[in-house]
Amino acid sequence: MRKSTKFFMISIVLLFILAGCSNNDNSDEKTSHDKLQVVTTYSILYDIVKNVGGDKIELHSLAPIGSNPHEYETLPLDAQKATDADVVFYNGLNLEAGNSWFEKLMDTAGKSGESAPVYKMSKGVEPMFLTTEGKEGEEDPHAWLDLQNGIKYAENARDALIEVDPENAEEYKKNAEEYTSQLEVLHQEALDQYSKIPKEKRVFVTSEGAFKYFSKAYDFQAEYIWEINQENQGTPSQITQVVDKINDQQIQGLFLETSIDARSMETVARETGMDIKGKVFTDSIGKPGEDGDTYIKMMQWNIDTILSGLID
Ligand SMILES: [Zn+2]
Repeated sequence: MRKSTKFFMISIVLLFILAGCSNNDNSDEKTSHDKLQVVTTYSILYDIVKNVGGDKIELHSLAPIGSNPHEYETLPLDAQKATDADVVFYNGLNLEAGNSWFEKLMDTAGKSGESAPVYKMSKGVEPMFLTTEGKEGEEDPHAWLDLQNGIKYAENARDALIEVDPENAEEYKKNAEEYTSQLEVLHQEALDQYSKIPKEKRVFVTSEGAFKYFSKAYDFQAEYIWEINQENQGTPSQITQVVDKINDQQIQGLFLETSIDARSMETVARETGMDIKGKVFTDSIGKPGEDGDTYIKMMQWNIDTILSGLID
């Protein structure tokens, strides 16, 4: 009898523990499902949307930090998150076009129809175009490297979140106002800081030609090994061309992007005898806790690095 009473007591205790666990699970699930489920295509949009959505949204980024959003191989988790999403944000301007990965994912997730809540963050940005032979007329995606466009992105995120979740409109408006005013301050700082570089020194080289919008906004000449990241390494002829250009113009500023294989730029540095002046952020923010781990910090990092790299 004593044995079976003990067994009974233990069973009751276990039942309570199990019930407790499953209650907790349910309530956790309920809390997270109460929030608006949001998916972004890569880490820069993730950070901007996070600032606007605050704690009213639950976010998932498809291309992870440090990866190339031009061509991304989606995982089963991405398809699940995209299917469950209340709203999806993408850059547009030809960014998520490599292998049509984003289009395919939206088809899989049942979000390719007209009524699907899929928003283009670059809406309202004046597009710039590629110049490589055979690619003329294709839009260049890197609008976010001009902070004025970053402000547009944040406003587009605000408007989309309000449309999908009008109950929290005030929160989104307040967050967006605070955030865009920080971006405005940083844009002014960029103009001030870059103006310290003499005009003839405002030229630099990166692996990918990601700095078109940047150059227009801040008055630079930006050269590159290849124009857009649907390629991953420079071809021998691309390397020869950029080496000649660096030698001809005595270009001092070579920078290496954080989300790009270093080998081509290292070859260019070796062949020209120039130093790589530092790393810059283009297609990804930094890892949490490391340099440039938000859009604001990555842009601040680029200001500091480009200034100190070109001014000496
Ligand atoms: Zn890129």
